[in-house]
Amino acid sequence: MKNILLIATGGTIASLATDNGLKPFFDAEGLLSFIPEIKEMCHIAGEIIMNIDSSNMNPYLMAEVAETIYNRYHEYDGFVVMHGTDTMGYTSAALTYMLQNIKKPVVVTGSQIVIGKLYTDAKKNLHDAIKFSIEGLPGIFVAFDGKIINGTRAVKIRTRSMNAFESVNYPYIAEIKLGRVIYHKDIQDIFPVDTSKPFKLQTSLCTDIFLLKLYPGIKPDLFDYLKKKYKGVIIETFGIGGIPCKGDNILAKVKELVDAGLVVVITTQCLQEGVELGIYEVGHELAKNAVICARDMNTEAIVAKLMWALGNFDNLKDVKEFFETPVSGDMCI
Ligand code: ASP
Repeated sequence: MKNILLIATGGTIASLATDNGLKPFFDAEGLLSFIPEIKEMCHIAGEIIMNIDSSNMNPYLMAEVAETIYNRYHEYDGFVVMHGTDTMGYTSAALTYMLQNIKKPVVVTGSQIVIGKLYTDAKKNLHDAIKFSIEGLPGIFVAFDGKIINGTRAVKIRTRSMNAFESVNYPYIAEIKLGRVIYHKDIQDIFPVDTSKPFKLQTSLCTDIFLLKLYPGIKPDLFDYLKKKYKGVIIETFGIGGIPCKGDNILAKVKELVDAGLVVVITTQCLQEGVELGIYEVGHELAKNAVICARDMNTEAIVAKLMWALGNFDNLKDVKEFFETPVSGDMCI
């Protein structure tokens, strides 16, 4: 039987319902007693490395998760990370860049409802995550509501429902139906597993980045502040890449950021289908200005990739080259 390490970080899945609301709690044995079938599937060890609501997750704590996996790598065949759902997509993306060329599975999961409740999704999600970790497919994944999602593609799109996560701009890796793993039929083509490069831990993330969502009426003076304070700015533009350039000229301010040496990543506030510079005149202007086009990446992965790139390279050319090179299916068009 395979050896799987269950790493608890907190969230609803590691909480108990009390009269005063949800309380952080983790006990691997106690948790697994709700799913006795697991004992016949693999050997499980549990380790609690933090017990936080995932709203309090940050790059340093993400690095702790990655370090735990790295330090225990040779003892286990796979890893399951229990995590709050709110920032799970950010952590799964960050782990993808931190645990480079990993040769074992890391499956991140959580739940909308605590394990002791009648309608809990914790039992199924935990079971599915463990089941998928036994499969041995290398990479970082999210297991939720019977779906296995590429770690760079998981987006929380619902606050209450069991199907809280969507695989955005990317097919599901697999579904788990009645305990059976059913892979996407083109899994070999869609999910890149590169076994030629060595496994490496690289946890430096630069937090000097800003994520800006445009809205009609946005004021240009904000950009003067951004220019002084940050190394990188991600701009969620309108539609396929629209930025206001009449009246308050935001496009001109974006160019100022680039001229000041900041790394500017252009994405869209639309959830699906990505951004493309060059379709409209505004985008054409931008494309000439050494901005990075995030294409069909989702915001969670963009944040993690930009933090990683700025944490590991000190010039725009290398940051741009790394960012524009797909990693684990984070960018497809
Ligand atoms: N607020 C919780 C968290 O993200 C929600 C959850 O776990 O579902 O930690």
